[in-house]
Amino acid sequence: MKQQRQRPASGKAQTLTKAVTHIRLIEVNPGKLAALDALAPVYLALCQQYVTFFCTDEHPDKFHAPILATLLSERWHRVAIQQAAGIAQSWRTNRASAYQDYLDDLLDYHEQQADDTLDVQAEEPIWKEWNVPTLRQTCIQANANVVVLEPSQDSTFDYWLKISTLDFRKQLLVPVKLADYHRQTVKGKTVNTSVTLNKRDTGWWLTLSYDQMVTVQTAPDAPVVGIDAGIANFVTTSTGKHYGTFHGKLRERQKRDREKRRCKAKLRKCLEKKGVEKLPSTTSRSGQRLIRHVRQEINRAVNQCFKEHQDCQIAYEQLSVATMKHKARAMNAYMRASNLAHIPKQIAWNAAKRGIQATRVKSAYSSQECSVCHYPDRANRPDQQTFCCVVCGFQTHADLNAALNIERRVRDAALEACKDKTAVKALLMQRHQIWKKQNGWP
Ligand SMILES: [Zn+2]
Repeated sequence: MKQQRQRPASGKAQTLTKAVTHIRLIEVNPGKLAALDALAPVYLALCQQYVTFFCTDEHPDKFHAPILATLLSERWHRVAIQQAAGIAQSWRTNRASAYQDYLDDLLDYHEQQADDTLDVQAEEPIWKEWNVPTLRQTCIQANANVVVLEPSQDSTFDYWLKISTLDFRKQLLVPVKLADYHRQTVKGKTVNTSVTLNKRDTGWWLTLSYDQMVTVQTAPDAPVVGIDAGIANFVTTSTGKHYGTFHGKLRERQKRDREKRRCKAKLRKCLEKKGVEKLPSTTSRSGQRLIRHVRQEINRAVNQCFKEHQDCQIAYEQLSVATMKHKARAMNAYMRASNLAHIPKQIAWNAAKRGIQATRVKSAYSSQECSVCHYPDRANRPDQQTFCCVVCGFQTHADLNAALNIERRVRDAALEACKDKTAVKALLMQRHQIWKKQNGWP
């Protein structure tokens, strides 16, 4: 499984698909969307069956022949198969990479056990098999075979959506009205024929998209800036700059939020004992707000970083589940994975929209390898913030050391070719030996 994406060449145009979200489907006459409501559970159930099928029995195939019975038309049936294959494919990819992480962790564990360097609290990693994804909310990724988007001729609405329903002869016509800012965004652009329909508690929502061509501006010999993603510093560059942090204000907010939820849970227990039927919910609104806020701060940090490195190309890490776990140890469980994963996504997005070359590189040992002598060792990290090489004595901020390694990995074909973590470690040890010889070490 190769995840490395082809790097776009300088001067080449890249297609960027942009989404226009949060368009509410308006109900002009009551009950108009009832036909869509009737279709939703049938579609969801069918899609779920194919998701399970593609996750457990057969390889995901968007063009698989229909094999299940349904009330839906053949066109709708094909749309469900296509969407399910996409969901199953990304589930399989994520599961495979998590499994590889587990194998790497296990190897690490046994190695440390063999040389008696195992941490007192270390436990042998266990693989927990993943559950097949469950579709909870109706989300329909429809193409023009079932939903047609037509520009409206009169000025009251912007588009009409023509939706085929369970009833063969009946087509549902739904008007679409854009907000002013949406209208500004799509002005002069060709909106894609595929649309997404989401059913929420608040009704039906439409997502449109359009393609934009962005030319890659980065010169082929542009200097590389390595970016390390983390919690203490959202972004650290190999040029020695830090952008954004989870500590300080965000952390204070998180603590307050946790305290609030603890109180609420206590109250719930107390009320439960007293036989109160309607209990206050434990999901916290401020928690949701906090997550949004963290993401905004991440976006701001990444944005600033790109602004200050205009004529460079970017190297960043493909964060694995294991790396995220390791990096996010200080963070509350519900905050960690999703927010940390948001950083590389935001880097890729920023690069794409600015036409800047960005390359994902392998993350194995990027935080343990010494950027001077290549020696890879956990012991090089006496604490979260410090890097101090046990061989050559090189000392610097841990995130900066990682960023320097990431920078160098862009043109490192030998490292990119390594099959797993063991291979990476062997390669780094080899380089360390060469470094020693060159620098006259015994
Ligand atoms: Zn060193």
